[in-house]
Amino acid sequence: MPETKAIANTGLSSPTVRFAPSPNGLLHVGHARSAFLNWRFARDHGGAFLLRIEDIDTTRARPEFDAAIREDLAWLGLDWSGPVRRQAEHFSDYEAALSELRRLDLLYPAFLSRNEAADRVRQAESSGETWPRDPDGAPHYPGDDRNLTEPQRTRRMAEGKPYAWRLDMKKALDCLQEPLTWEEFGAGPQGKAGRIAADPAAWGDVVLARRDVPASYHLAVAVDDAIQGITDVIRGEDLFAATAVHRLLQLLLGLPEPRYRHHGLVLDADGRKLSKSDGATSIASLRLKGASPSDIMAMAGLLPES
Ligand code: GLU
Repeated sequence: MPETKAIANTGLSSPTVRFAPSPNGLLHVGHARSAFLNWRFARDHGGAFLLRIEDIDTTRARPEFDAAIREDLAWLGLDWSGPVRRQAEHFSDYEAALSELRRLDLLYPAFLSRNEAADRVRQAESSGETWPRDPDGAPHYPGDDRNLTEPQRTRRMAEGKPYAWRLDMKKALDCLQEPLTWEEFGAGPQGKAGRIAADPAAWGDVVLARRDVPASYHLAVAVDDAIQGITDVIRGEDLFAATAVHRLLQLLLGLPEPRYRHHGLVLDADGRKLSKSDGATSIASLRLKGASPSDIMAMAGLLPES
């Protein structure tokens, strides 16, 4: 467990929060909202606001976006504590977690390519089967190779067939002693704070590592939140359902449980969530057009302070 220090008179322990963008584009107004809510929470509770650069996908991460993230945050006045954690510098931490899950026999090498998996789903659906989809709308992995014997796995891996490590969701759920939940401390998309029933099965056999990227978002976030001693995860409600997977990994790996607050997203004029590919709402371009940090906060729905 990370050490928490008591704040005099309040009885509350001091929180550690983080802002964890991926450096694959410029930050937009929605990121400013998330970063500010974290920063303010740390300020109001005498805690620490940390910065983590989620760059495990080295094919998409760019150093110029990493630099732009730091510049935008500094310009907005959202100063962070301590060294920045860049995930690409910590692959050995994710590999250790992966080995532990393998030791527990909860992973399998999944050999179907994206196209092969999509074909299997199409075939099943065209013969009238209802194929399960995850909360993001992606079909579950078919899992044909879940039941390969150890010699069959070893042979295929030795033949050089590409594979990803997937969590055997059914086996993982069998390890749980009690229903899986998390503590939501904001209203969240469900409208009230409290314990939320987690449904990791909704995601199917999630990928935890690929050959070219030796950790997935889910694995890295669970490991990093523990290593950085994050007590309160404040992030957009688009990650609400993914929290079920993070809680499951925390339990399997014996990691501490943070609290969660999933805040509302900033939407564009058509009611869609902002995207990094739409340069118009990037903080950098708004700054160039003369916007001030408080203009950005107002656009993020945070002024007057909400
Ligand atoms: N890296 C994720 C993103 O940029 C955020 C991860 C998280 O807050 O858990 O959307």
